[in-house]
Amino acid sequence: MTKTTLTDGSPVTPDHREIDPKTGMQKAYVVLSEDERAKGFVEPVRRSYQHLICGGVTIMGQALAETYARDPFFYSGTFCAICGTHFPVGEDGQFVWDGTDQKVGTRGQR
Ligand SMILES: [Zn+2]
Repeated sequence: MTKTTLTDGSPVTPDHREIDPKTGMQKAYVVLSEDERAKGFVEPVRRSYQHLICGGVTIMGQALAETYARDPFFYSGTFCAICGTHFPVGEDGQFVWDGTDQKVGTRGQR
């Protein structure tokens, strides 16, 4: 049983990180497998985040959102749809979950 797949559930390919020059996005993104995500979430499933530098909000797919909810530290960076490129996430990153002051890629304070 593989722990990670691409967002459509297909196997991870060596070239998935290649950037599509038209969109600035990767060819494909790695997520935790459906089985892994089914083990439960430690954070709410949130679909949109705000880039603190430009103020723009980006909406991501369900598999990516569930991967953050299962493992908030899975990614080191994410895509800003307004800037058209990737920036870091985490405590010192550039993104918060939309409508909150919680940084993307961190655990919320409970
Ligand atoms: Zn931006």
